[in-house]
Amino acid sequence: MAPFLTFSDERDLREQVWRTYYSRGDNDDEHDNNALIAEILDLRNERVQLLGYENYAAWRLENRMAKDPAGALGLLEAIWPAALARVEEEVADMQAIADAEGTGNSIEPWDYRYYAEKVRLARYDLDSDEVKQYLQMANLIDAMHFVAGELFQFAFTPITDGSVPVWHEDVTVWEVTDRNTGEHVGLWYLDPFARPGKRSGAWATTYRSHETYDGLKTTLGSNNSNFIQGAPGEPVLISWDDAETLFHEFGHALHYLSSNVAYPTLNGGVRDYTELQSQLMERWLQTDKVIDNYLVHVGTGEPIPDELVAKIRNAGTFNQGFETTEFLASALMDMKYHTMDPAGLDVDAFERQALAELGMPDQIVMRHRSPHFTHAFSGEGYSAGYYSYEWAEVLVADAAEAFAEAPGGFYDPEVAAAMVEHLFAIRNAVDPADAYREFRGRDATVDALMRARGFPVPGN
Ligand SMILES: [Zn+2]
Repeated sequence: MAPFLTFSDERDLREQVWRTYYSRGDNDDEHDNNALIAEILDLRNERVQLLGYENYAAWRLENRMAKDPAGALGLLEAIWPAALARVEEEVADMQAIADAEGTGNSIEPWDYRYYAEKVRLARYDLDSDEVKQYLQMANLIDAMHFVAGELFQFAFTPITDGSVPVWHEDVTVWEVTDRNTGEHVGLWYLDPFARPGKRSGAWATTYRSHETYDGLKTTLGSNNSNFIQGAPGEPVLISWDDAETLFHEFGHALHYLSSNVAYPTLNGGVRDYTELQSQLMERWLQTDKVIDNYLVHVGTGEPIPDELVAKIRNAGTFNQGFETTEFLASALMDMKYHTMDPAGLDVDAFERQALAELGMPDQIVMRHRSPHFTHAFSGEGYSAGYYSYEWAEVLVADAAEAFAEAPGGFYDPEVAAAMVEHLFAIRNAVDPADAYREFRGRDATVDALMRARGFPVPGN
């Protein structure tokens, strides 16, 4: 759907694809989900009433960092007006291009991605093949180990004598130690390449988590991805997105390796908090020490030029009005459904009315409309929890600014030590809101996220 709406010049086909995609589960036939949603909400409400909660969201959020629906809603509502204002600018930019084409068309929802791509080409063009020449997988792994040394005081020593068995010859194992004391921390396995039968994507996992209540057990964990192996002796080049993902998954690894929690049950994650550590680590890919020493051209060995890095950073603010608005609309609706009294609910009418009240722009639709909003209705992992993606991004942007403001920047030893102590090592043994306050000296605000997306900061 997205590539078609982005690249097809056939406007009537774009409209047909758009209507088909966004009507899933909403066609008044045997697959229509509207009545099922009302029933699901009724049953959820009945259950939490029995448990003595005001509504489903209040029950769901009790053990999350947001604590209650008001906390999550407050965050979403703080970002919403700026996102709408940015949409107006984006639509105006796209309308100017459409007007110049002389078609007389105004921007409809099936035109948004199409004209946004034209704006992107005019303003943000970035050649991903050019960027790749600076992203050698082996260098990036060295860079991650360097960052882990500076921030976490970890040393990574490859185990090459075969003393640790592995499940495939592609897998490499490192012993992780404290680089100051030499103390053993754990084993880190890396399984980087695609092969038949391997699960797709990239992930981090543990085979044994840290615990000390019954004697120290060594932590065993891995990072996994699906890069295409090069010819023997040829460096493996990856995309910027994949490089970010490497750092992201390594953030999960640093989270489990740095644990100092005695009890396994306190090693678990909190749904709206487990992506903070991994998303935060992505920021180190763009630090000068990594760029100058590790992001070097595969042929010439020259570091990636400043203007290319500036283009990559600039591209991060592209189309943020659209992306933020379509996401927030779904997150706000998720919270509305799970805080309302669902008795006698007409889902179709409610969705229309609630979005109109929010001032939803005509050119954008919810990222997941109610009849196919699986996060909210097909399971309970993300029901009344879709907001948590945004919650993590607010924390990440705010935490990253703690480094940006520090005398030593992203390698400031004091901020790094506080990050390891309060955001990583304590896992789930301290309330995340308290832990974050210990790290930052205050609660997170949305200001840093607004800056990162190129939105005006409220009250400024
Ligand atoms: Zn993750």
